[in-house]
Amino acid sequence: MTAAAGSVRDRLPAGCVPAARHWIGGTWVGARSGRSFETVNPTTGESLHAVAAGDAGDVDDAVAAASAAAGGWWEMDALERGRTLRRAAELIRANAARFGVLDTLEAGRPIRDTAERSANGAAALFDFYAGLTDKLRGFTQPMGPGYSAVTELEPYGVVGAIAPWNYPLSNAATKIAPAIACGNAIVLKPSELASLSTLLLADLLHEAGVPAGVVNVVTGIGAEAGAPLVEHAGVGKVSFTGSTATGRRIGEACGRLIRSVTLELGGKSANIVFPDADLRTAAKGAAFTVFNNSGQTCSAGTRLLVHRSVAAEFLDLVRAEVATLAIGDPMLPATRLGPVVSAQQLHRIERAVERGVAAGARAERPAVASWQPVRGGYFHAPVLLHDVDPASEVAQQEIFGPVLCVFSFESDDQALALANGTEYGLAASIWTRSLARYERARREIEAGLIWVNCPHALHPGTPVAAQKSSGLGSEYGMEAAGQYMKQKSTVSTWTDWTSGFEG
Ligand code: NAD
Repeated sequence: MTAAAGSVRDRLPAGCVPAARHWIGGTWVGARSGRSFETVNPTTGESLHAVAAGDAGDVDDAVAAASAAAGGWWEMDALERGRTLRRAAELIRANAARFGVLDTLEAGRPIRDTAERSANGAAALFDFYAGLTDKLRGFTQPMGPGYSAVTELEPYGVVGAIAPWNYPLSNAATKIAPAIACGNAIVLKPSELASLSTLLLADLLHEAGVPAGVVNVVTGIGAEAGAPLVEHAGVGKVSFTGSTATGRRIGEACGRLIRSVTLELGGKSANIVFPDADLRTAAKGAAFTVFNNSGQTCSAGTRLLVHRSVAAEFLDLVRAEVATLAIGDPMLPATRLGPVVSAQQLHRIERAVERGVAAGARAERPAVASWQPVRGGYFHAPVLLHDVDPASEVAQQEIFGPVLCVFSFESDDQALALANGTEYGLAASIWTRSLARYERARREIEAGLIWVNCPHALHPGTPVAAQKSSGLGSEYGMEAAGQYMKQKSTVSTWTDWTSGFEG
């Protein structure tokens, strides 16, 4: 065990997010109830920063601010809306270091990932959607003489968005950028475990020229601040990212309210290594996909499916990759794995591994380059689970930790059946040099995103439409515009309709 250097509070960028404040109507406001809670630094278990404990009253205020701002934002010259988003992208890049420290301190993500890399990713989303603002075109339908049919796109008005904690800045940017590019205002509730970078982002968007009220952040726990947002009569569209269990509840509420909803949920993605693959690069990918961010990635390849003929050699290569991982204080640049996000998450992972072993799996804890957990932090070493029953809970349900379930297969049929053998359909990876295997896997794998010979490469322009219990609707790409706008058709004639039209 090591101790984190200095006081945790000393390591927060000075004054970048005030204590116990929402961001509503372009300013910092306390919770109406006056309540707040402390977020925790998962590296040390110490309190980090006071966050406002939002509830229905704060949601009312935020939705009112968003409703007041939405019309003017949509009516603004679309090119100017795009320029504003581009300025936002520049400011995000310029503040990469501050975002990095916030996400590392609150979510435990290694600073080598949070600084430049995640700010660049978030900025790219604003750049991409900046280019969309003036291309949101409707269409006409020829109807014959005397008639015209026009279909226009219009924003929902107020989007209610809810995000998880695993990539806090990126999760917030993924919601805000397309929603406001399409002329909506947004009320975003970040995870209670990691709210700070979302608050900083809202402040910077305002500095970039996004008018007051267009972006609002209400912090708080799901049942108190998230649920009233989903149910609020002033919200036209709900966009949720989080677990499948919460997504089902939100989907049910939106079904009852007949409210448009996009759901981006959990995954149990297969990573298939065919015998003709370049095993060395595939092993790097297999370790990266599941151990990056300590396994807390929705699209992580948590089920390794490797052909029996190469399984022993491949697992040795994976162990060699694990042997390069330094685990410890995520503020240190050499650290590759930090803690998991909370004591509760650590407990969940430990129980999942225990239940897997009780169901017949064998747990291996491969050697790592260095294991230096900080005292009080929520650290979990990488685990390989062998001899896993594909029907068991550990093979079927998301663990969200650095745990890899290993399976072997003998035929392509078997590999694809295993890959599709869970309720999830978020992502999958395949490693092969065979075009025929690529073509078949691409057709038959049930997932919204398939990586071939690379892990986790993604461009903001590529839509991801999760399948099965992993979600509903698309995120990213032009397609996200379809999620944040509604179509309105108008059919008109200026002649006597009683003569000639038989529709
Ligand atoms: P979670 O479902 O516990 O919480 C997500 C958000 O929902 C939080 O902000 C939480 O406060 C809020 N919430 C909880 N209960 C609510 C309720 N009753 N009403 C409204 N809001 C409520 O998920 P999490 O633990 O924060 O995140 C991890 C999960 O997110 C994993 O399952 C992961 O796979 C998933 N995820 C999916 C994607 C994707 O794109 N598909 C991306 C990132 C994370």
